[in-house]
Amino acid sequence: LLGNETIKAELGRASWKLFHTILARYPEKPTAEEREALSSYIYLFSRVYPCGECASHFQKLLKKFPPQTSSRIAASQWGCHVHNQVNARLGKDIFDCNTIGEKYQCGCEEEGANEFE
Ligand code: FAD
Repeated sequence: LLGNETIKAELGRASWKLFHTILARYPEKPTAEEREALSSYIYLFSRVYPCGECASHFQKLLKKFPPQTSSRIAASQWGCHVHNQVNARLGKDIFDCNTIGEKYQCGCEEEGANEFE
């Protein structure tokens, strides 16, 4: 049982890392298509997330706090907020969303920039 909890936590950490990194790299001024893509991704993620209990809680959270896709800041602050909702439910510390700025890096360049130039 302890083993399963460890595996679930590891999956959670990996998932949150990808989740926040996607939001940190989301366009500052997204097009309608980009907004639709992010929204679809988040809802599909909530359906395919392999921990069933986590997925069903997360789906309820999305009903209460629908994905914010209007800008990078809106999306990343929304992501921080929903993660904090999960933290609260699990009795974990609340993360200060003002400090999220440079935390989630992808090791890739901004679109349009070229590191070889
Ligand atoms: P995590 O919560 O995994 O966070 C990883 C790191 O992210 C932290 O160390 C911190 O640096 C940073 N961080 C913390 N809070 C924030 C924030 N608000 N914004 C940005 N960065 C932050 N586990 C369960 O047992 N039951 C569940 O129902 C459950 N539901 C989940 C639903 C989803 C969608 C996901 C992705 C995971 C879920 N988990 C659930 C796993 C759980 O959220 C944790 O990932 C896991 O318990 C490991 O926790 P942790 O303390 O290592 O930190």
